[in-house]
Amino acid sequence: MPELPEVETIRRQLVPHVEGRTITGAEVLDPRWTMPEAPHTVERELRGAVVERLHRSGKYLVWELSGDRHLLTHLRMTGALLFDPDPQPAHARVRLQLDSGHLLVLDDPRRFGTGHLVHGATARDAYLHSRIGVEPLTPEFNAAHLFRLTRGRRAPIKAFVLDQRRIAGVGNIYADEALFRARIHPLRPAGRLKRVELERLREGIEAALQAGIDAKGASIDDFRHIDGARGAFQDRFLIHRRAGEPCPRCGGQVIRLVVAGRGTYVCERCQRRPRRVASPTGGAGERAPARAGLLAPTPPPARPAGRRDRRRATR
Ligand SMILES: [Zn+2]
Repeated sequence: MPELPEVETIRRQLVPHVEGRTITGAEVLDPRWTMPEAPHTVERELRGAVVERLHRSGKYLVWELSGDRHLLTHLRMTGALLFDPDPQPAHARVRLQLDSGHLLVLDDPRRFGTGHLVHGATARDAYLHSRIGVEPLTPEFNAAHLFRLTRGRRAPIKAFVLDQRRIAGVGNIYADEALFRARIHPLRPAGRLKRVELERLREGIEAALQAGIDAKGASIDDFRHIDGARGAFQDRFLIHRRAGEPCPRCGGQVIRLVVAGRGTYVCERCQRRPRRVASPTGGAGERAPARAGLLAPTPPPARPAGRRDRRRATR
């Protein structure tokens, strides 16, 4: 699924083609796209509207239209916005004709993408705020904010990072890349991370997202640019999908786990796995081995501990 860097790539590619243009024709070919609104209602609002600005919020593209209207689109699993596609895509769900003579088509084989039209900035913000949390790459995204959000949370930090209502736009690829950069094991309970680790996590998330944007996104699935080309970030992953390969930092072997139900890639020499201690004061037990590990690196923990952690993480 497109994550923040992929959606940002599409936004940057679309801006010169759509900002300032008038939508002269709008066809919504699939009623699921606008649900619960009827397609013809949205078509009527779009026809004649000027695209004043194209923004991004998390994984949403936010089309600021004339008349203080806002179209909020999400590509979900397989959506692609194609500019003048030739030939026409097999799974076109929306077609927008522009006054420049160009055509924009939403191709979406699995039909999970959505488009919602709202009136006014207040309605737009309410829609987004109920669905997505803090936007990375902004000053509001900082260690203090992450510290407040994570306190008391026992879920693995990776599940926390993936939760769109906490942090907007980070999905499976960039969560792995960010946690590796931050040297934090994805199974660490979010609420146990120290402020200095959360600062590393913030840096890791920003660096991973920026690397993704610089490479114009990752195409490991259906992600395509507006001209149908693929992104290049999949060739630059540090850790994601690199099981069995050497860690780019220490040379140790990258392994695959399942965390929060998602395939997860780690180097357990760089990202120390939390050790569960069978004592009611588990907090101290988790910290002690990590500190010892700094002095004398130990091999990855025995298999049974790993299985137990994995089961907990996927619940
Ligand atoms: Zn390593």
